[in-house]
Amino acid sequence: MKTSTWIDAENAHCAQNYYPLPVVLTKGKGVWLWDIEGKRYLDMMSAYSAVSLGHSHPRLLQVLTEQAHKLCVVSRAFHTDTMRPFLEKLCQISGLDMALPMNTGVEAVETAIKAARRWGVEKKGIPDGQVEIIVAKNNFHGRTLTVISFSSDESYKTHFGPFTPGFVEIPFGDEIALKKAITTNTCAFLVEPIQGEAGIQIPPQGWLKRCAKICQENNVLLILDEIQSGLGRTGKLFAFEHEEIMPDGLILGKALGGGILPVSAFLAKKEIMSVFTPGSHGSTFGGNPLATRVALEAISLIQEGDLLERTQMLGEELLQGLRAIKSPLIREVRGKGLWVGVEINTQKISARKVCEKMMELGVLSKEAHDSVIRFAPPLIIERENLHWAIEQFTKAIQFLS
Ligand SMILES: *Cc1c(COP(=O)(O)O)cnc(C)c1O
Repeated sequence: MKTSTWIDAENAHCAQNYYPLPVVLTKGKGVWLWDIEGKRYLDMMSAYSAVSLGHSHPRLLQVLTEQAHKLCVVSRAFHTDTMRPFLEKLCQISGLDMALPMNTGVEAVETAIKAARRWGVEKKGIPDGQVEIIVAKNNFHGRTLTVISFSSDESYKTHFGPFTPGFVEIPFGDEIALKKAITTNTCAFLVEPIQGEAGIQIPPQGWLKRCAKICQENNVLLILDEIQSGLGRTGKLFAFEHEEIMPDGLILGKALGGGILPVSAFLAKKEIMSVFTPGSHGSTFGGNPLATRVALEAISLIQEGDLLERTQMLGEELLQGLRAIKSPLIREVRGKGLWVGVEINTQKISARKVCEKMMELGVLSKEAHDSVIRFAPPLIIERENLHWAIEQFTKAIQFLS
């Protein structure tokens, strides 16, 4: 069947809550994807960083199948022998004390919000029902109702109200605004160290460190959403390491599942996590043996060898390669590690058009909003493939100029 026929047939039954590129994928291996017509593409997007280890990593497939034959899901009604190694690993790599496993990213964000609120009431002494959480403008933390309640993107919110109260927005990168926004009812500041969906927005150097200090001075929890920035994407295991700080809570997802399963977790200091009591939170699939076994292996793979150093080095090359392209279509190139955004002059062309042209040339990526083309290849990408992607992007830009 032809791609366009396939897509029309799918659209007859599919909610139109996404606007995918017109390609129908059927196979993936490493950094490569294949469509139903047999055409091969380089994956420069990695499912929004979920596929940092590439598609179908052999070691992940091995533990996946081994564990699948052994034990997959029993719910949290029982202990399982896969949970402890997974939690120990998470705490060891992050420096935090405890973790609560969930499935999707937004569930872990919800978990963090519940933990912060209960901590606010039970440990900080904020009157019940009056806790406030400070968030950043243009944040992205997922799509549940509570989480879109503090989104600044109207398209996420239209006609979905009423919304969850208790969130206060400040500009990203502005610590004076953070200081001013804190009241005696503030329990936490929830923020992405780098805003991915907002278009790979990097705050001023030292900002996070200054925020950490302000939070500490005011007994406000610093909770970092590293669902996209974490687990090696920026060239360090966690983006907070670039600023040598320690958050009170940390949210992980995406790459945690090795690009195979949805696995997320909220990690925190003991003082915070201890607010959870039996019945106060849960998930049928969260922490299931299959997911935790795959996640444990995914973390090991990210830690092993020189993957992080390579990510830093190749990230620099990607940044330089893209910055070398001189075109009136390009406004700015910014990024950290293998996570780069190219801001397009939307008066001349849409980012979508550029992504469509790149697709023709065999490179898959996706715009963030209308103006930014993101590059976030699997961290395992070979140098020559990365440079090939830069060449194709250059061709696309030249063609469209
Ligand atoms: C993707 C993402 C989420 C939501 O994760 P889902 O698995 O899609 O629910 C939350 N926060 C950040 C920073 C993300 O990039």
